[in-house]
Amino acid sequence: MGQKIFGAVESRTPGLTHAKRALYQLSYNPKPDRPQIGPVSGARVRQLLKQQSTIRHHQAWTSQRRVKRAIPDIEDVEWNSTLAYVHDRHAVFTFYSNSKDTHQRTHHIKKLHGMLPTLNSMQARKPNLYPTCVCRRCELEKEDNDHVWKCPSAAETTTEIWKEAMGKINEWGVQATNSYNAARKREYKRAVDRGRQVPRPVPIHWWPPSDADHVRGFSSIGGARAVHSGSPALDRDEKPMWNVSDLLRGITPLSMLTEWSAVFRTPMSIAKTVLHKFVGYLEAQASELIWKPRCSATIAWEQTQGISAKDKTSKYTGPRATIVAQSQVLDRTATGGWCTEEFGL
Ligand SMILES: [Zn+2]
Repeated sequence: MGQKIFGAVESRTPGLTHAKRALYQLSYNPKPDRPQIGPVSGARVRQLLKQQSTIRHHQAWTSQRRVKRAIPDIEDVEWNSTLAYVHDRHAVFTFYSNSKDTHQRTHHIKKLHGMLPTLNSMQARKPNLYPTCVCRRCELEKEDNDHVWKCPSAAETTTEIWKEAMGKINEWGVQATNSYNAARKREYKRAVDRGRQVPRPVPIHWWPPSDADHVRGFSSIGGARAVHSGSPALDRDEKPMWNVSDLLRGITPLSMLTEWSAVFRTPMSIAKTVLHKFVGYLEAQASELIWKPRCSATIAWEQTQGISAKDKTSKYTGPRATIVAQSQVLDRTATGGWCTEEFGL
């Protein structure tokens, strides 16, 4: 039974093989008629319990409704890269923190989970203050976490950010290739110093991809062709799993990495570094040039409506208008404290 559960967890959680093997070794006694010889150290048990709770938390997180809604395919995410941006490029175990860093991380986590305080959620929380949740930039559609990045008024900015990021790819590619070659050279030197016979590494070259190469590389991303050309263009896939808006939220899809590394003709690790920088640039610029101006426009509108910052943090106890509003209220209760003032980030 335990093995079955682990099999299921593991198939959804690559990288848990170690935990599985460790727990199995602990429980497996090849000679049941004789007791196991040798005590299991306290540190080992602690490590196993830690791994066990990691699995449990991961399972609980992946089954959340908002996670399923905000991340179309958890298995197709390059998590090392994505989490590096969630944690603002600081290692978690350093316990480094300050208020700016905390705000940035909160913003990234909300963005990843589709929990930014857009007007639809503000209306659900405070129907007395927000009679409408129409986007204050385009004034056409309801503003939710998806619309923030897809708003027609942000289309030009998205194309500009994309072009700038594309313009930096060769610089990032050369840097990543140089580091790759230097690392191979160090490994070679270490091996020779130990007296081992190893072939001398052949340096890799960065060949600047053509525009057509790039288009081939990112075509699995919905809306990417249109953003790249700056004019409406059809998507390659009828129902793409990922959209440009997911990249703007800081998600690095594995499938995009696979396609792009094929066109780069480089080892996967170089493509990974370049794509990591590409998505990081899109994410940071989208916060500055799309989210911040969106907040300014919304605050300006709120002021014309007489909605103050104090009103927004006061508790609402009146009736909830719609079923949609009810479901969002439940989400808020489940996360607790996500009402943190977001504007300005
Ligand atoms: Zn809009």
